[in-house]
Amino acid sequence: MSGKADPRPAGEGTTTPRTRLERGRGALGPALELVHTGRAPTRAVLTAELGVTRATAGVVAAELEALGLIRVDARPGAAAGSQGRPSHRLSVAEDGPVVLAAQVHADGFRAALVGLGGRIVATAPGCETVDADPAKVLGSVVEAGADLLSETGRRCVGAGLAVPSAVAEPDGLALNPLHLAWPAGAPVRRIFTECVRAAGITGPAFAGNDVNLAALAEHRHGAGRGARDLLCVATGHRGVGGALVLDGRLHTGSSGLALEVGHLTVNPEGRPCHCGSRGCLDVEADPLALLTAAGREPGPVVSLLQQANDLIRGHYDDPAVRTATEALIDRLGLGLAGLVNILNPDRIILGGLHGTLFDADPGRLRAVVADRSLWGQSGGVPILACSLDHNSLVGAAELAWQPVLDDPLTALAS
Ligand SMILES: [Zn+2]
Repeated sequence: MSGKADPRPAGEGTTTPRTRLERGRGALGPALELVHTGRAPTRAVLTAELGVTRATAGVVAAELEALGLIRVDARPGAAAGSQGRPSHRLSVAEDGPVVLAAQVHADGFRAALVGLGGRIVATAPGCETVDADPAKVLGSVVEAGADLLSETGRRCVGAGLAVPSAVAEPDGLALNPLHLAWPAGAPVRRIFTECVRAAGITGPAFAGNDVNLAALAEHRHGAGRGARDLLCVATGHRGVGGALVLDGRLHTGSSGLALEVGHLTVNPEGRPCHCGSRGCLDVEADPLALLTAAGREPGPVVSLLQQANDLIRGHYDDPAVRTATEALIDRLGLGLAGLVNILNPDRIILGGLHGTLFDADPGRLRAVVADRSLWGQSGGVPILACSLDHNSLVGAAELAWQPVLDDPLTALAS
């Protein structure tokens, strides 16, 4: 996203406040996005980023404040070493509207209320065996979200859902929910929308793949900020997914199905995969693969992801755990090397268990990627762990916030 409004036309200096506001209307969305993503912490930066006059930026900021979306602090303390009068500080409104974010995973669901700036206002997990009928768990997660709304009394302006499946567009179908009992092609967006309406929640409803949404959230608020060609690879509770954010937009392919990186072969003699192939990243580098490689029986109480993370963080000095971790790092590195050759990203971020693998031995993973890829050898691609808590939920919220970011006045009037 450019974040730039139309350049200032000639003669703006002589316009009235009213025409300024009309011109400023087109800048409301770009201005809100700049504050939302932390790129305009002051009115002076907002003025420069929008390419408008100070007066227009002032009108735009005041309008967003009147809508209850941002806060304008007219008398901030002067920053150390700064000269002259400090610029007004801009931040998202602490008590502004929220969106309902929902995530379904192999072990249940999580609901959250998310404000602008990717801020989680309230969240509630739910543990349940995901039924073959998507309406069951989607009903549960929306109900949990509706409870959070009534507890907090916040205004809700939309809803977004993250699912562990590719979501085919334009119909919003969960095409390959391999780790859930759902039928392939379940119309999750329609069912989610119906649940949201039934709970009396207004505003549009959206659905997307969990790793795509994690990447979008990290690009706007986390470890992916400022990257131009951002590759994200992550495990959920089961399996492995990938996403690419190009110039601020998710690359989802012609029908929403791009970046199925989980089915790259990284171990030709490896274990059979649910896709019909063998030795895919999906079964060679996910939480269950780590537990199995370390000789641990998966327990029933907490999620496989948490068990695998706890094993690496708490028992890395156990030789079996260390060997298993290194084996998974090597397989992940092999998969990343292939992706680096094809996509030429300027940053890689790793989520779920992959972030934990990276933190356990960053040098080993970087070395595998550099040794096994063409472009990795020439200077290397920066690799980081994802930095946001619940990034798929925050990304689901981004979907719901998008109409407000595109046109705040229209979105909030409906
Ligand atoms: Zn596979």
